[in-house]
Amino acid sequence: MDRDGTVIQERHYLADPAGVALVPGAPEALLRLRAMGFALVLVTNQSGIGRGLYTLGDYRRVAAEVDRQLAAAGVVMDGTYFCPDTPGLDPETTCRKPSPLMHRAAARDLRLSTRGSYCVGDKLSDVLPAETLGGTGILVRTGWGREEEDTVAPEHHVVDDLTAAAELIARIEEDQEGVKPTEVRRDPSQAR
Ligand SMILES: [Mg+2]
Repeated sequence: MDRDGTVIQERHYLADPAGVALVPGAPEALLRLRAMGFALVLVTNQSGIGRGLYTLGDYRRVAAEVDRQLAAAGVVMDGTYFCPDTPGLDPETTCRKPSPLMHRAAARDLRLSTRGSYCVGDKLSDVLPAETLGGTGILVRTGWGREEEDTVAPEHHVVDDLTAAAELIARIEEDQEGVKPTEVRRDPSQAR
């Protein structure tokens, strides 16, 4: 999932740990996803580094504060990946979302299935990697989400916030478990 505007409140080019504030309900949503068996991974574009607006050290101090606040709520992320690239670099090589490079690195490092994963964030560029990776995209209306909502193709989901995203994921996962092998093999002509 995305960080700014999704797990923590969107602040324009956040460089100060004092500006870190969790989105209400985010830790509980993450714990719910954890209980479902998901690995929790942050993938965050940090072009402020590439633009020279803040330093790698600033980013690390903010990231440590995010980790600290999440840990205080009982959440430890399995991984955090950030991309310092500015927009406009070669799409083949940049890590900047919608490039799926950070997601692929996480999948490799943590041995995750990208097809079974969910890409959650407040921008179109957060959900687009799901198309490339074969996962499921969910746009949240926190952060920039309301501005971005109309740009998201209908195959992606749009929900209010991370809490609603966790609820949706639980429903999708339940539906998939509900499809028993016998039902899949059933002769369609006998289905009502
Ligand atoms: Mg964001």
